[in-house]
Amino acid sequence: MVITRVAVVGAGTMGSGIVQVVARAGIPVTMIDREQAILDRALAKIQQQLQRDVERGRLSEDEAGVATSLIETDVALDSAADADLVIEAVPEVFELKADIFRRLDEICPAETILASNTSSISITRLAALTRRPAKVIGMHFFNPVPVMRLVEVVRGMSTAPDVHTAVVELAERLGKTPVTVNDFPGFVSNRILMPMINEAIFCLMEGVASAEDIDAVMKLGMNHPLGPLALADLIGLDVCLDILEVLHRDLGDDKYRPCPLLRKMVAAGRLGRKTGEGFYRYE
Ligand code: NAD
Repeated sequence: MVITRVAVVGAGTMGSGIVQVVARAGIPVTMIDREQAILDRALAKIQQQLQRDVERGRLSEDEAGVATSLIETDVALDSAADADLVIEAVPEVFELKADIFRRLDEICPAETILASNTSSISITRLAALTRRPAKVIGMHFFNPVPVMRLVEVVRGMSTAPDVHTAVVELAERLGKTPVTVNDFPGFVSNRILMPMINEAIFCLMEGVASAEDIDAVMKLGMNHPLGPLALADLIGLDVCLDILEVLHRDLGDDKYRPCPLLRKMVAAGRLGRKTGEGFYRYE
């Protein structure tokens, strides 16, 4: 099973990055979103980034031109029908993803692989909504997609071995390092990262140290490039809270309970970089 054409549903932060790396690998890709204006903005951002790669000598003008020519945009989900692999990257809302998976299952031929870039929603649960659970898999890319090497490949309970192999091979063609994990809440990345961030927020709430000092300990003592509180601001405190709620509910263990200070900050609209204030202030 070789993947020769890809479709990506959702042209936001992650979807546009995925489209960029697929096109750069020489694979034709259709980028799908609700509105043409969103698609135009995403395409302009991709072209800008490819141009930056040309200026830095990482890509020739010709290669950038070829990559751009491989990208098609469409507001109709139906255009996913001719892809061998569809990667869903719409917001982290179960009902939204469920609707997309049900519709893709109607639209796409039975052999098409359906992947989700979800950070925490169960792949097995999404697969069960389709008539092709063996062809459903997780492809968890990291932000920013063109820079981050990891793809967490998530095997659902019914994912077929040849589907897993095809997706691992594709991730390698994209220049990524795939790491395969089984479908459990938060997979490996967020199962480990989110409790660390949560514990840092408890340390701040309990007055163990200031935000700057908590981050300094983790940067200087553990060699983390970014402290946990600065990282939470970058990810978005609302996103961190959503993922912790999934871990707490689905693993049923109070060790994942979200810190009350995190809840309070989300309620106050202090969501991190995107709102200009989280644990730090941003200009
Ligand atoms: P985003 O909000 O930037 O982009 C989502 C896009 O989906 C938007 O362009 C929106 O218009 C589009 N969309 C919404 N409903 C749609 C529909 N019915 N049909 C087509 N398009 C639709 O979100 P994002 O940050 O790119 O996150 C997408 C997914 O990736 C989420 O599941 C998230 O958990 C996961 N993820 C995000 C990050 C991150 O750091 N942002 C990292 C890893 C995984």
